[in-house]
Amino acid sequence: MSNGVKTLDGVALVTGAGSGIGRQICISYAHAGCRAIALADVNLEGVKETISLIKAQRYSTKTLALEANVADAISVKNMVAQTVKAFGSIDYGSFFDLMPGWYGTDTETGNTAANVAGITTTARVPTAKYPHQEYDKILEINTKGIMICMQEQIQAMQKQTATCTPGIDNPRRAQRGSIINIASVTGFSGLQNMMPYNVSKHAVIGLTKSAAVDHGRDEIRINAVCPGMTETPMVATRTTSIPGKSSGWAVDGNTRQRLALPEEIADVCIFLSGCGASYMSGSSVVVDAGHLAAL
Ligand code: NAD
Repeated sequence: MSNGVKTLDGVALVTGAGSGIGRQICISYAHAGCRAIALADVNLEGVKETISLIKAQRYSTKTLALEANVADAISVKNMVAQTVKAFGSIDYGSFFDLMPGWYGTDTETGNTAANVAGITTTARVPTAKYPHQEYDKILEINTKGIMICMQEQIQAMQKQTATCTPGIDNPRRAQRGSIINIASVTGFSGLQNMMPYNVSKHAVIGLTKSAAVDHGRDEIRINAVCPGMTETPMVATRTTSIPGKSSGWAVDGNTRQRLALPEEIADVCIFLSGCGASYMSGSSVVVDAGHLAAL
């Protein structure tokens, strides 16, 4: 490519691929030239729609549709095993012709997984009265689900060869894997009447830091992306279900005065997956047009 867009050449595994941000991450990876993508979701129909959107653009990316529940350890084990079986690895490569003198013009390979699947609260209740059952459900999917996914992804990545030997070739390229967990700006602030979601996203940031510290020496980089409110079906539910709050409420606190587009979140994921982010691990990258800065 000569338009300054990053070119990817590898395999990605994306959970939550059947809707919203996960769907867009898959489309953006395909647009950027990704060789193959395993798309996983509890909603297989949603995954098939995402694949249709990729095929409609005539991208050459191979796709694998996987029905998987991120909160179920056996399902996640199968998801990772099927990805490795179909495509050889959870592999990811990128080169950046935007700044060829900096990154080099050859392909820099790595490995990537994006853990995007998540749910929001259905109840809108203050902490003192929050139903325990819903608390458990949100934490099971949003937090334990990320942990289970990372465990399987890390074990698969540990078996793969690091793409370059540090110190011999360009040390920036020496990575065995890159994992991205989708947290939220609500991982940094309080959130009224949605305590379990708020807790779950704080926890994703903690999980990301612990895993990054534990597996840095395996040459696996692990980062969180923390979106502000983004135009997806999840937010449509949230903004219309809060009494007295219209979607205007959701954009008041940011500098762009609008919700994020899923593409704006996906682009940050592409950067974090590749070797351009070779010195980033354990980070929580906020993508919120200044929403948190303004609090
Ligand atoms: P979405 O509802 O459009 O998509 C979520 C996807 O996750 C759906 O396809 C759903 O089927 C899937 N999913 C749910 N539970 C699952 C499970 N147990 N196993 C596998 N797949 C499952 O939502 P979205 O807005 O695209 O959200 C994606 C992620 O981004 C979530 O983790 C969400 O918390 C986070 N996030 C969203 C926003 C936002 O404003 N939309 C902001 C910050 C963070």
